[in-house]
Amino acid sequence: MNTVEGTQAKLAEMARESELSALTTFRMSGKVKKLLKPASVNELAEIIQAFHENGEYFKIIGGGSNTIIRDGISVPLVSTLHLKEMRFDGNYIFAESGVSLSKIISEAEKRGLSGLEFASGIPGTIGGAVFMNSGAFGGEISNRLQSIVVVNKRGEVKELGVNEVEFSYRSSSFHSEDMWIAGCVLKLRYSTALEVKTKVEKFFEMKKKSQPLNMPSVGCIFKNPENDYAARLIDAAGLKGFKVGGVMVSKKHAGFFVNVGKATFEDFKNVYTRVLKEVKEKLGVKLEPEITIVW
Ligand SMILES: Cc1cc2nc3c(=O)[nH]c(=O)nc-3n(C[C@H](O)[C@H](O)[C@H](O)COP(=O)(O)OP(=O)(O)OC[C@H]3O[C@@H](n4cnc5c(N)ncnc54)[C@H](O)[C@@H]3O)c2cc1C
Repeated sequence: MNTVEGTQAKLAEMARESELSALTTFRMSGKVKKLLKPASVNELAEIIQAFHENGEYFKIIGGGSNTIIRDGISVPLVSTLHLKEMRFDGNYIFAESGVSLSKIISEAEKRGLSGLEFASGIPGTIGGAVFMNSGAFGGEISNRLQSIVVVNKRGEVKELGVNEVEFSYRSSSFHSEDMWIAGCVLKLRYSTALEVKTKVEKFFEMKKKSQPLNMPSVGCIFKNPENDYAARLIDAAGLKGFKVGGVMVSKKHAGFFVNVGKATFEDFKNVYTRVLKEVKEKLGVKLEPEITIVW
């Protein structure tokens, strides 16, 4: 067996079939053919290097709270959910990419560290939050970052200062670079556990009032166009409550699609394309996706 065949065999051995419902918060029906779950950053780096040497496209996935995946795809998916190390050093936090944002917020709260309260109620991992530059109520994750530990396509692990990465509204330079997030260092402010808890609860209540948190979704499907809101446009196009099969435009927040039962990728595609088409035709605005769709 030559080196390439050896690498291919190793990747094939690590890949497992998986239910789609376990991979994203949309809980869609169906399966994916190849899911790999590295147990450490070193293993993540080996896998990335192996895919690169193989010339094979893959997609990394965290909590799947901003991702829709086509049923039956053979694109290999690499889950970060086993990369769970987290350390505190004063007001600095190191977290591997698979640590959930909610875990970081609750641990920071216990220590009276402030700065992430705005993200209360945002599901998913810190890796996904860095990639998306997730944010709410005027706060963004990039404003709390000190550095990011990355893996490049050659499997090299290195630490980048926050100024070496570009961040913008729901985006980062990781969208266009062959570089993946292994972990990051966040810098918070000293406060008190009570003050942090009060803010966390306040932001969560605000979120609960406006978003359908009790139904499976992947958050806002589209980015807000400049000086407007995707949800307002979808509502104005008369699509609130529009439904195909198990996928419905939320009646509570038209920027969200919700799984109302046994949603399939086909249902999702039908609602998604109809919303795009009607908002364009009726209001002249071309909506851009915020979510990642893995075809
Ligand atoms: C109910 C609900 C409410 C939400 N509210 C908000 C909100 O208020 N604000 C907001 O910004 N978002 C919100 N979201 C969207 C989502 O939770 C965030 O974008 C979240 O940070 C994504 O993290 P994830 O781990 O689930 O990412 P995933 O969905 O797993 O991945 C998202 C993208 O990041 C990439 N990615 C993931 N991990 C890595 C990595 N380690 N290295 C490189 N790329 C990676 C994936 O390839 C994919 O392109 C909400 C979602 C839901 C379901």
